[in-house]
Amino acid sequence: MKLHEYQAKEILAKYGVAVQPGVVAETVDEAVAAAEKMHADSGASLFVVKAQIHAGGRGKGGGVKLARGVDEVREKAGGILGMNLVTHQTGPEGQPVRKVLIADAVDIKSEYYIGVTLDRQRSRDVIMASTEGGVEIETVAEETPEKIVKEWVDPAVGLRGFQARKLAFALGLEGKAVKQAAKFIQLLYKAYSDSDCSLAEINPLVLTDQGDVLAVDAKIDLDDNALFRHADLQELRDLHEEDPLEVESSEHGLNYVKLDGNVGCMVNGAGLAMATMDIIKLAGGEPANFLDVGGGASAQTVEAGFRIILKDPNVKAILVNIFGGIVRCDRVAAGVVEAANNVDINVPLIVRLQGTNAEEGKAILDESGLTIETAILFKEAADKVGAALA
Ligand code: GDP
Ligand code: MN
Repeated sequence: MKLHEYQAKEILAKYGVAVQPGVVAETVDEAVAAAEKMHADSGASLFVVKAQIHAGGRGKGGGVKLARGVDEVREKAGGILGMNLVTHQTGPEGQPVRKVLIADAVDIKSEYYIGVTLDRQRSRDVIMASTEGGVEIETVAEETPEKIVKEWVDPAVGLRGFQARKLAFALGLEGKAVKQAAKFIQLLYKAYSDSDCSLAEINPLVLTDQGDVLAVDAKIDLDDNALFRHADLQELRDLHEEDPLEVESSEHGLNYVKLDGNVGCMVNGAGLAMATMDIIKLAGGEPANFLDVGGGASAQTVEAGFRIILKDPNVKAILVNIFGGIVRCDRVAAGVVEAANNVDINVPLIVRLQGTNAEEGKAILDESGLTIETAILFKEAADKVGAALA
C-alpha cells in the first residue's frame, strides 16, 4: 500500500526523524489558513505548495511550487488543487490532485538520497545512500551505480551505529551534519521496520544553509501482508489513488491487475494466469487483465470477475481457464453457468476446464443453453480465442 508524502512525513516525525514541517490542505482556504498559522507559529514566510498524489516526479510535472508569502500560497494552491498532474510515474493520463501539502520552505545547500528496502537476494534490509539526491535514483543506479553506497542490516543485531555513520560519511557530510544524518538514518530504519514498510525513501534528504539535515520529501510503501498488524496505518489508504477496478476486485478477494489488451481472462492460480496471458498473446490477442480468482472459484467470485472484466470497454472476448485441483471442474462449471445467467456477457466466452471432473464440467457448459465455447486442452482454448477475435 502506498502512502502520500504528508502521511509518510507524519509517521517519520513520530519516530523523531527530522522532517520539514508542513500541513496538508484540501481547499485553497485551508491552504491559506495553514500558511497563516505556520507564519504565526514559526515566522515562516517562504512556503512550498506540493501536490499529494501517489507518484514521484511531481516537481518536474509542475506539482511542487515555491510560494513567497500567503498570497502566493493562495495562487499556487489554486493552480495545483484540481489539476491533472502528469509525471513519469503517473502515465500519460495523469492523476487529479485532491490535496496539497503546505511546507515551510528550507534553504537547500545540497540534496542527497536515502532509501531503505528489502534486498531479496541477500534476504536483508538494505540502506542506500547517495550524493545524487533530488534526481531519479533509477537513473543514478543505471548510469553511475558507484554513487550509491549500501549497508545491509543483519536481522539478528539490527542496524549498527557504525553502519549509519559510514553512510553519513559517504554523503561527504561534516561536523554536526554527520551526527544528524547518522541519527536520521537510525530513526528512519526504526520507523521502516516497526511499520512493516516495503520501502522508505527520502529524496531529497537536504543539508540546509544552516547546516542541518532534514527530509524534504518522503515516500513510504507498506507491506500489504503485514497491514493486519497496523490498524492505524490501514486507515491511511487513499482509494482515490487506486484503479477503481482494482479496488472493486480487492473487495471481492480477487487479485486483479488491469492491462490494456482486448482479451479478458479469469484464472485460478497466479502461475496459470500468467501462462494464460502468454497463450492469449500466442493466439494473436493481448491480455486485458491479470485475474486470479484463487483456489475456490465459486459462482459469486466468478460473477464478480465477469462484472469487473466487462467494465473494461476494450474487452472483445473472455477466456476462463480453471484447473480443478482443490475445486472440482463440475462445480466451477455450475458456477460459471450461474454467473453467466446473472451477468450480460456480450462478448464471446471461452471456458477451458482441466483437472478433476473436467469432462463433467464441459458437459454442464455444453448443455447449459448458453453460448459458451468450451475446451479441455490449452491449445484448443487458444485457437478458440483466436477465432473469436478474427
Ligand atoms: P518530487 O518531484 O515528487 O520528488 O517532489 P520533491 O518533494 O522531491 O520536490 C521536488 C524538488 O523541489 C526537490 O528536489 C527540491 O529541489 C525542490 N524543493 C522541494 N521542497 C523545497 C524547499 O523547501 N526548498 C527549496 N529550495 N526547494 C524545494
Ligand atoms: Mn522527491
